[in-house]
Parts: sequence; C-alpha cells; structure tokens
Amino acid sequence: MHPVIKELLILQERDQKLLIVQRDLDRIPRDEANANGQLNGDQQVLQKAIDALRQCEVATKKIELDIATRRNTILRLKQQQFETRKNEEYTALGNEVIRYTKEIDGLETQELEHMEIADNLRAKVKEAEAQLARSQSLVNADLADLTAKKAQLLQRKEELTTERKNLCSGVDPEVLPLYEKLMKSKNGSAVVQASNGMCGGCHMKLVPTTLVKVLAGSEITQCENCGRMLYPD
Ligand SMILES: [Zn+2]
Repeated sequence: MHPVIKELLILQERDQKLLIVQRDLDRIPRDEANANGQLNGDQQVLQKAIDALRQCEVATKKIELDIATRRNTILRLKQQQFETRKNEEYTALGNEVIRYTKEIDGLETQELEHMEIADNLRAKVKEAEAQLARSQSLVNADLADLTAKKAQLLQRKEELTTERKNLCSGVDPEVLPLYEKLMKSKNGSAVVQASNGMCGGCHMKLVPTTLVKVLAGSEITQCENCGRMLYPD
C-alpha cells in the first residue's frame, strides 16, 4: 500500500469520528427543544384552568355587585314607602321590594354556585401546577443529561481536532488538498478499498489498469468514476 494512503487512512478514521461527534453535537439543540416541548401540554392545561378560574371570579364579582345594587334599591324603596301617604303607592312600592328581594335570592343562589365552581377550579389549578412541576423535573433531568453530553462531545471534538492537526502535518501536502476535497464532497469517505475489482465508494467496476496501479501501490490511484483514492484488498 502506498505510504501516503496508509497515513490518509489513519487521518480518515479520525475525521470520520469527528463527523459523528459533530452530527451528535448538531442534534443537541433539537433534542433540547423537544425536551422543553414536552411541557407544552401541561402548560396549556394549567393556563386553561387559570383562565376558567379568573372568568368565574369575574362572574362572581358581577353577581355581588348586582346584589349590592338591589339592596340599595330596596333601601330607597323602603324610604319612599315610609314617606308616602298614598295607600296605592305604598302597596306598589312594597311589591317592588318583594320583586327585588326575590331577585336577590336568585342571585345569592347563583353566587353560591359560582363559589363552589371556583373551589373546583382552584383544585384544578393546583393539580395542573403539580403536574407541570413533575414534568418540569423530568425535563430538567433530560436537559442536564444533554448539557453533560454536549460537554463530553465538545471535549472529544477538541481531542480529535488536535489529533487530526498532528496527523495532517505528516501527510504529503500535494495529496492533502485532494483528500480534504473528497472528504467534503464524498460525505466522509475519501479513501476506499478496491475489492472484487470494484470501488468501495461508488461500487462501480474498476478498469484493469487502475486495479493494477492500486495493487502496485507505487502511486496515488483514484477511482475513474467517483475520484476516491483507492487502496488494495
Ligand atoms: Zn468510485
């Protein structure tokens, strides 16, 4: 085997590891987003419960106001009743008082119902908060794992980058650019085996002269189809 090919194979092995490390690193932001996304459902349930409780509280306030207004009206009607001397008017005012009192009874029933609903909704909010907290702690654990993984990968990347730099300095500078170009264009396989008369990269049949050159190992030989550098079986 050509000595440069031997060196390139060692370099390629590091570069392929480096590509895997980089692929794993690139995946981390997406994994983090997925982890955080697991909270969406719980957050929506909680927000719904909070909104429903708020609505119920607003409705209760309105009922309370309606009751207060009617109580004032009753006071005013009773005062008018007290002041009038006409029997007819007195009876009419009394009927009004009865009507408003009935309305207040109805409103008070509604108020009690709303208070009960609010109690249920408060329980729902609490439950949703607890569920969200449980999910959050799971997600936090996932995120911590991802942070640790990222640190590990970055360290590995640094090690591999240093290794490849050292290896590169030993490779024939005439061949290195071709290797780098092939690594980029051929998805991380620049140097491949020629086995059974075929290129290990593109799997096309090699012409006999190429095969002879690969076996001789006296020069850098490329697949005539894909351009990858070849080494013998
Ligand atoms: Zn090929």
